Amino acid sequence: MQDRKNRRNAQNNLLLFLLVLSLASCNWAEEVIPIEEDFSNTNLTLGNPTEALPTYLDPDNFLIDLPQYTVSYSNSRGIPNWVSWHLDDSWIGDAERSKYFKRNKNLPTEWAPVSTNNYRNSGFDRGHNCPSADRTSTAEDNESTFLMTNIVPQAPNHNQRVWKALEDYSRQLVEEGNELYIVMGNYGQGGEGRNGFAETISDGRVTVPQYIWKTVVVLPPGDDDVSRIAADTRVITVLIENVNISFENWGEYRVSIDEIEDATGFDLLSRLPLAIQDVVEAVVDDGPTG
Ligand code: MN
Ligand code: MN
Repeated sequence: MQDRKNRRNAQNNLLLFLLVLSLASCNWAEEVIPIEEDFSNTNLTLGNPTEALPTYLDPDNFLIDLPQYTVSYSNSRGIPNWVSWHLDDSWIGDAERSKYFKRNKNLPTEWAPVSTNNYRNSGFDRGHNCPSADRTSTAEDNESTFLMTNIVPQAPNHNQRVWKALEDYSRQLVEEGNELYIVMGNYGQGGEGRNGFAETISDGRVTVPQYIWKTVVVLPPGDDDVSRIAADTRVITVLIENVNISFENWGEYRVSIDEIEDATGFDLLSRLPLAIQDVVEAVVDDGPTG
């Protein structure tokens, strides 16, 4: 009897402990320092959309944190889930465009890191996520964008026309005196390249994404960026099917962040207060496009 009572007490104590723990962790949700705040760069200042970690536990949500940009990599797809970076004029310089795409040698060899050969004769461009032209202050910065973990199979017209126009406009915004937080990602399977439709390339090693998206938060230069983002901050989000048509102006493809979050399950701008996320994530930008 005494034993049973002790056991019940122990169970009650355990329940109480778990209750206190869960209440405490609710409080912590506001206050705990997320892992990305330990990083020295500002790539994840606005959040880590999939809570990716630099451990090998989840090969399909593997964090690659470089000074120049940060990636959630999917090993089964052979492409990033998303790439996040900060762009201000300190990143723009005179470095020449690197000539060589490179395998990411920091991935485990058993993951069979994707190389430029996997894209050969595929009919798809090696599409940068963080663009080469966004990282030109040093040769090393520029070379980092040519790691294959920053690349997706992108329909040539998509890459060279509509996407390039959005990249050019982003750098124009910086020239006009802004700083930007940019996230590019993709979802789905199957696109149409130069040789027609394909779900994968290189015998299935690399998935061809069906949709490619990007979101750009535009701020005047300043400090304490998270706290400066308000309901009226310009946020440009674009979603374009990965096909090889003649595209309109990128402005024709603007959507809300909510649409991207619904399609992917990611949480963009997760470091912003929910009240701000609710507003800026529902907006479809209608500002200038050039
Ligand atoms: Mn490109
Ligand atoms: Mn969000």
